[in-house]
Amino acid sequence: MESCIFCKIIGGEVSSEKITETDNFLVFRDMNEKAPGHSLVVPKTHIKSFLEMDRELYGEFMEVTKAATEKIMKDYKHESFNLIINDGEAAGQVVSHLHLHIIPRNVGDGYKICP
Ligand code: 5GP
Ligand code: ZN
Repeated sequence: MESCIFCKIIGGEVSSEKITETDNFLVFRDMNEKAPGHSLVVPKTHIKSFLEMDRELYGEFMEVTKAATEKIMKDYKHESFNLIINDGEAAGQVVSHLHLHIIPRNVGDGYKICP
């Protein structure tokens, strides 16, 4: 989708700081990070919802999320993390291209997870 900012990042038209990638997913740092290393796992094909992904990609999605989370926890030395998908407007999805947030957490950081 031409106007999608994440499609532009995947296509290299807009720069981003890559954490890792696989054939079907890219992981890059969020530009408004809640903590150093806050990153987004995105499928390279434009879909809006977690429920729309090709069935065979769910395993790769979890594997790349695990690999990226391990790298972020090691490189940025955080204690804990949240994995979050805001799916749909009412859930707080702003960018209409499926993405999973890897949000590093530390005791006392005060970050409130959306209810
Ligand atoms: P949502 O609320 O849709 O779950 O979150 C979208 C996320 O995408 C936000 O955390 C926002 O900071 C991030 N984001 C939006 N545009 C860009 C961009 O151009 N580059 C990067 N790296 N992150 C972006
Ligand atoms: Zn897109």
